[in-house]
Amino acid sequence: MHKAGFVTILGNPNVGKSTLMNELMGERLSIITQKAQTTRHRILGVVSEDDYQIVFSDTPGVINPHHDLHEAMMRFVKASLEDADVILYMVDSSKEALKDVAFLEKIHSLQTPLVLLINKIDLIEQEEVNSLIDYWSKKLPNTILIPVSALKKFNIDRIKEEILGFLPESPAYFPKDTLTDKSERFIVSEIVREKILERYKQEIPYSVEVVVDSFKDKEKVIVIEAIIYVERESQKAILLGKKGVAIKAVGISARKTMQNFFKKKIFLGLFVKVAKDWRSRKSQLKKFGYN
Ligand code: GDP
Ligand code: MG
Repeated sequence: MHKAGFVTILGNPNVGKSTLMNELMGERLSIITQKAQTTRHRILGVVSEDDYQIVFSDTPGVINPHHDLHEAMMRFVKASLEDADVILYMVDSSKEALKDVAFLEKIHSLQTPLVLLINKIDLIEQEEVNSLIDYWSKKLPNTILIPVSALKKFNIDRIKEEILGFLPESPAYFPKDTLTDKSERFIVSEIVREKILERYKQEIPYSVEVVVDSFKDKEKVIVIEAIIYVERESQKAILLGKKGVAIKAVGISARKTMQNFFKKKIFLGLFVKVAKDWRSRKSQLKKFGYN
């Protein structure tokens, strides 16, 4: 039997997500680290063995302590989380975790399995570890809690075991030698989504799916074409704005961010299409749409 699935690693900045990811990725550490430092966006790390494949994404941007978790943000986060097979949420045991509680209670109410990682336990006493476990097991009943030290490599294997317990039976999503695939396309679609989230209210951010149709890295310029799928004609009209003014503004600010990120000139073509009921096929789009 072969298992495969998507695991999202969440948590506030500096709790140790990247350290854990590097640890989980083993000797492939340097590649991930390099990528991780060049981006504040989603990064995939793919761990493959003969009988399983785990696709990790590290999303430092999702939880921004300077933003309130207002409704639009929450919808955005929720939409991206529902596609995960397992959510790993990491807290820093040496810090107050009050900010996490409200957010975690919301994640807890999703259908997706949640594993809480209490990290940096090398910095605290065993008694404190115990009281943290008491605290979190009351806040999040029926959630798996794992005290870990990503830095000192303590309990890393248990994390993998718990993930494997939740992974569905499935063929691999990527070739087995893939380490961190399609990150450029992911970054591009995340940037477009971010700009849409900033600019539109109500149901729009929740109703769009961005698929990067082509990404051509040429000598002096990267030529990108992305399709923004919406569910209804009325949403398409809102997205485009009068005479296309609104979508043009999205394109301009997305292009600027991409140029900064790739350090190269960008040609960005954005197309808005209506795909009735795409949402019910969302996980398919997400998992295969970037190929
Ligand atoms: P991220 O922002 O969540 O990705 O956090 P990083 O992985 O970049 O880690 C932030 C800081 O915490 C770095 O200085 C790490 O070395 C440190 N750190 C991560 N895990 C641990 C841990 O288990 N114990 C200790 N003491 N420090 C850790
Ligand atoms: Mg990080």
